Amino acid sequence: MSRTDVTAFVALGANLGDAAQSLRDALTALGVAPGIRVVRTSSLYRTAPLESSGPDYVNAVAEVSTTLTAPALLDALQAIEEQAGRERPYRNAPRTLDLDLLLFGGALIDSPRLTVPHPRMGQRAFVLVPLAEIAPSLVSTVQLDAVADQVIEAL
Ligand code: ATP
Ligand code: CA
Ligand code: CA
Repeated sequence: MSRTDVTAFVALGANLGDAAQSLRDALTALGVAPGIRVVRTSSLYRTAPLESSGPDYVNAVAEVSTTLTAPALLDALQAIEEQAGRERPYRNAPRTLDLDLLLFGGALIDSPRLTVPHPRMGQRAFVLVPLAEIAPSLVSTVQLDAVADQVIEAL
């Protein structure tokens, strides 16, 4: 690991088409993207839509090591979403693929197109449960308790 490598965490979600396959394809795409290495991935989880609609979601979290800046990593995530046919007809619409940047090292970012840590991650079992699976030190019992009413099951 060079000095410029940053450990980042990416949340993956989909609820249109073959969502599980979309997540596997996205993990492959992440792994071959320049400047991104996939270090570990959580199980795939099934969750009911939260503030969204349509079929159940499939969710996962990946730890990546990257030489990219945070905005460049977001560019790469959005390019992979585009390849998966992501459309944004309205807020929280069902989607073929959603890739959110949860954490970028210890960075605190608040720019028009990027907020890190992801501002809503603490409210979402579909983020916290897979994140706790691969990085237990980053998620507390208190945080998990706060989302314990949300149904989530490993695929
Ligand atoms: P949510 O952010 O609540 O999960 P969403 O994922 O459905 O909602 P999108 O339509 O995918 O929202 O993204 C809207 C915008 O959010 C993106 O164009 C991007 O610029 C911005 N954004 C801000 N912070 C982040 C982040 N940490 N990860 C991904 N996108 C972000
Ligand atoms: Ca999202
Ligand atoms: Ca998103």
